[in-house]
Amino acid sequence: MTIQVFGLPVSQGIAIGRAVLVASSRVDVAHYYVEGEQALQFEIERLQRARSQVIAELSSLQADIPKDAPPELWALMDVHLMLLNDESLIAATQEWVTERSYNAEWALSAQLEVMARQFDEMDDEYLRERRADIEQLTERMLKALNGHAAQAAHPSNGHVIEQGDDPVVLVASDIAPADMLQFKHSIFTGFVTDVGGRTSHTAIVARSMAIPAVVGAREASRLIRQDDWVVIDGDAGVVIVNPSPIILDEYRFKRREIELERARLDRLRHKPAVTLDGIAIDLLANIEQPSDVQHAVHAGAMGVGLFRTEFLFMHRNGHLPDEEEQYTHYLQAIEGLDGQPLTIRTIDIGADKPLDRMTTHELRHEHILNPAMGLRAIRWSLSEPSMFQTQLRAVLRASAHGQVRLLLPMLAQIAEIRAIRQQLMVAKKELTQSGIAFGEIEVGAMIEVPAAALMASTFARDFDFISIGTNDLIQYTLAIDRADEQVSHLYDPWHPAVLRLIHQTIAAAKTVGCPVSVCGEMAGDVAFTELLLAMGLRSFSMHPSQIAEVKQIILRSDVRRLGAVLDRVLLSDHPEQTARTVFDAVRTLQGAAA
Ligand code: PEP
Ligand code: MG
Repeated sequence: MTIQVFGLPVSQGIAIGRAVLVASSRVDVAHYYVEGEQALQFEIERLQRARSQVIAELSSLQADIPKDAPPELWALMDVHLMLLNDESLIAATQEWVTERSYNAEWALSAQLEVMARQFDEMDDEYLRERRADIEQLTERMLKALNGHAAQAAHPSNGHVIEQGDDPVVLVASDIAPADMLQFKHSIFTGFVTDVGGRTSHTAIVARSMAIPAVVGAREASRLIRQDDWVVIDGDAGVVIVNPSPIILDEYRFKRREIELERARLDRLRHKPAVTLDGIAIDLLANIEQPSDVQHAVHAGAMGVGLFRTEFLFMHRNGHLPDEEEQYTHYLQAIEGLDGQPLTIRTIDIGADKPLDRMTTHELRHEHILNPAMGLRAIRWSLSEPSMFQTQLRAVLRASAHGQVRLLLPMLAQIAEIRAIRQQLMVAKKELTQSGIAFGEIEVGAMIEVPAAALMASTFARDFDFISIGTNDLIQYTLAIDRADEQVSHLYDPWHPAVLRLIHQTIAAAKTVGCPVSVCGEMAGDVAFTELLLAMGLRSFSMHPSQIAEVKQIILRSDVRRLGAVLDRVLLSDHPEQTARTVFDAVRTLQGAAA
C-alpha cells in the first residue's frame, strides 16, 4: 500500500531507493557493499563466528549465575540463546549479504530491525517486550563482529562497490549532526528523520551533502519498513512509501529534469557573480571539514566564509583535539583553497551540537538546563580558557600559511570583545616568545543574537568584519528552537522583526565601513537573494551546492530597481500581507513593467 509521510523539506531534489532503517543508537554501524564471491563468503563467516562467540559468552554467563539469583535471569539468557540458535535469524541475515551484498554489520542490523518490528506488532505484551532482547543481542553481535576484523571486505581495501543493485536511502528517528557528517561520502542517496527543524544542524549537514532530505517527518521511522521502496521529495518535504509504478515514473521524470537543470547551472561555475547594474558579489562557501574545500572550489566559491570547526571536537570520547591536530586540520583546508580566504569560526559547541558525554563530564558541564541559551559558542570558549588558547594558537599558526580570518560565534556582550582581545594577545605573545610563526589575521564577529544586531555598529567598529548568522538570529529573535519540528511553522525568516534586524545590521556595518556577510541558511536560499542584495549585502556564504543557483539570481538582478521593494517589505506588518507576499507582489509588478 502506498502511503505518504510529510515533513520539512531541507535539502532539494528527488531520491528514489530502498529504505535502510537505522536505530539512532546505531548510526555508526558501517554500511557498505561487498563485491565478489570470496568477499561475500568472508562476511558470512564473520557472522557465523560472531554468533558462535556470543553463544559461548552467554553460555558461560549462564553457567556462572549464582544459585540464589532470580529465576528471570536464567529465563532471559535462555531467550537470548534461543534467538541466537534460531536458524531463521542467521539464514535471513545471510540473505541480506548474499542477495544485496551488504556487509555483515549492515546485514545484521537490517535483519534485527525487521525482527524488532515484528515483536513490536505482537498482541502479547510479554512477546512485545522481547524487542529489548533483540536490541541487546544486536549490541553483543555487533561487538563480536568488531572483534572479527572485516579484512577481506572493508572500504579501506578496495573490495567494495559504491552502488548495490538498488539505491538506498537512510531512515532514522534522529541523527545527531556529528553522526550525519559520517554519511557525507556514504552510499545513501537520501535521508529521512522523524525529528529536526529546517535549520537544525542535522538538516544543515544534510543540505551540505546536496542530496534530498526530509526531517521532522514525525512517524517516518515507524511507518516505513526495512527495504520498502521510498521516494523522497526534498522540494515538497514528502516521503512516498511503496509508490505505484505511475508515481515512480513521474518522480523519475522530475528527477531527470532536476539533473538537467543542475547541469545547466553548473556552467555558471566560473562566471563572476555581477548584477545587471554592475555590482560584484562575493560568493563564499560554508564547510564542516577540510575535505569540503574541494567541493567549494569546484563550485566556484571565492573562499570559505564559514568553517564550522566544532565538528572536529565531537565524538572524541573525552579526547579533544590538541593544538597540533587542529593546526593540521586547518592547514589542510588552507592548502585546498589555493590562496583564497579561509574563515575559521571558533568552536560553536552546545545546543544541538553537544560534546560527547565523556568530554562534558570531564569538563563538569553536564547539567545543562537550556543548552541553546546556556554555555554555548563563545561563552563556552571563554569559560574554558586553556581550550580557547589551544584553538587560537592553532588558527594563528595556520594563518602563517594563507589568508585566514578568525570568526567568533554568538557574541552578545561588550565585555566579550575585551575578553577575546585579551585572549588573542596572550596567544600571540606566547607564540612570539616561543619563536613560532603566525600571520596577520582579521578578526570577525558573528551577529546572531538580537542584542548584537541592535548594537551592530559597536561590533562593526571593534571587529575587522562581521557575519550575520541568520539561523540563530531567527531562533533567538522569535524564541523558536531551530531544531524543534513542533514549532518549525513559527520559525519564519520573513518575520518583519528578523528582516529589520538583518537590514539594520548591514546598514550599521556599511556606515562604519566594516565588511559584512551573511553565513546563515538565508544566504543560500534563492528566495532571499534579491532582498539581501536590496539590503546592501555584497557577500554571501553558503553550501557549495547552492552557489550556482544564487549566482543565477544575482546575474539577473538589478539592485537599483530593488530599493523600492525593500521599503515596502520592511514596513509590512499586516498579518495577511506578509513580507513574503509583499515582496513577491512587487517583484511581479516590476517584472511586468520591465
Ligand atoms: C547561524 O546561526 O546562522 C550560523 C551560520 O551558525 P550555525 O548554523 O552553525 O549556528
Ligand atoms: Mg549560529
